[in-house]
Amino acid sequence: MKYIGAHVSSSGGLEKAVLRAVEIKATAFSFFTRNQRQWFSPLLKQEKIDTFKKFCIKYKFKPQQILPHSSYLINLGHPIDILLEKSRLAFIDEIVRCDQLGLIFLNFHPGSHLNKITEIDCLERISKSINIALEKTKNVIAVIENTAGQGTNVGYCFEQISMIINNINDKSRIGVCLDTCHLFSSGYDLRTLNDCENTFNKFNNLIGLKYLKGIHLNDSKKSFNSRVDRHESLGLGKIGTLAFKWIIRNKNFYNIPIILETINPSIWEKEIFWLRSHK
Ligand SMILES: [Zn+2]
Ligand SMILES: [Zn+2]
Repeated sequence: MKYIGAHVSSSGGLEKAVLRAVEIKATAFSFFTRNQRQWFSPLLKQEKIDTFKKFCIKYKFKPQQILPHSSYLINLGHPIDILLEKSRLAFIDEIVRCDQLGLIFLNFHPGSHLNKITEIDCLERISKSINIALEKTKNVIAVIENTAGQGTNVGYCFEQISMIINNINDKSRIGVCLDTCHLFSSGYDLRTLNDCENTFNKFNNLIGLKYLKGIHLNDSKKSFNSRVDRHESLGLGKIGTLAFKWIIRNKNFYNIPIILETINPSIWEKEIFWLRSHK
């Protein structure tokens, strides 16, 4: 099965995210389980949990079609210990929320060294943060997203993601989400068929397809290897359309959420329709 959708808003209630996914005829969606600009949110009430689950069942979204995204405030590789601790607590809180909602994934950006520690130190902190969180929670798979390498973000190459995974104790609860805009802006080309095959072969060799739990399908406003993270609607950026058709047709990407984070929500329905036409 192809699960295709977008990162929808959950304002007004988590069940609204489900309805917004239905509106654009999505079969997958991503959302924030809480206000992503705040460190902590009130505990989820049982009634809200039940409503969300009821809507998912009613509109036929299984947990493997839903890829919740964690807050951008969290930095699991933070160089300063007390701030690292704050991030770790917030991350645990997010995993617990996903578990309460019956979800099995939590997508997150690995972290930043802020020019205060080395990339290696930062990657080690990230692995440790994930290990701590996995020990204190259950069921949910922590899904690392590759980054564009903007600023001091780590996780912009497969070697770094592989380093994080190698240090994870419970490998059944770690996964990867590949963002096409981030791939392209961090120097993994996707413009020709050969580029697509090379990039995903590299991923398979260094990390392994079994870890791939989701894809963010975004075109890029910025040029190849720019290390700048600016999403664009499909076909309107520097990647073109070939990569998106190639991904949609590729059986390796069946049964995982493929999520648009493109910049114009008013054409998401069209983009999803266009993707589905390339079976
Ligand atoms: Zn993304
Ligand atoms: Zn991005």
